[in-house]
Amino acid sequence: MLMVNGSEKMISFKSEDSDIRISFSAEAMNTLSSYRQTGTKTEAGGLLFAEQLYSDVIEIKCVTTPSKLDLRSRFGFKPNKRAAQKTINKFFDEGFHYIGDWHSHSQDTPIPSPKDIKTIKDIFHKSKHHLNYLVLVILSSNNDFSKTYIALTDGKDIFPCHPYTL
Ligand SMILES: [Zn+2]
Repeated sequence: MLMVNGSEKMISFKSEDSDIRISFSAEAMNTLSSYRQTGTKTEAGGLLFAEQLYSDVIEIKCVTTPSKLDLRSRFGFKPNKRAAQKTINKFFDEGFHYIGDWHSHSQDTPIPSPKDIKTIKDIFHKSKHHLNYLVLVILSSNNDFSKTYIALTDGKDIFPCHPYTL
């Protein structure tokens, strides 16, 4: 089990199809973990931001949490697009780059729905960015962070990433 606090090993995720590894700051992991969808909680979601984009290890530095304008249910999360764009612009001014989206599932081993895949591919095509890929994170209901679903998309294909330890 990978703990969020203490002297834990840093966890990262890597796709077999790419040299890029995705890691999380302790702050990002803590924030995400607090939205694990246990019991009857509704889905949560938000945006992922990184500071450095041009390295093999992309650290997700900060994540946003649901806003009041987002639509949340047990099996769905629909962010408010205008609010999201405002947030992306605000973070950009502070030196953070939008790198993808996260949401929670009530599953122990999250499986992306066809809509989840379509949405992240659409965002890749529709949003302004200079990235070769975007990241999709689906939070597990389990507090073992290595169960998080992580994938990269280049707008065409989806590349699942798996826990990677050095
Ligand atoms: Zn989903």
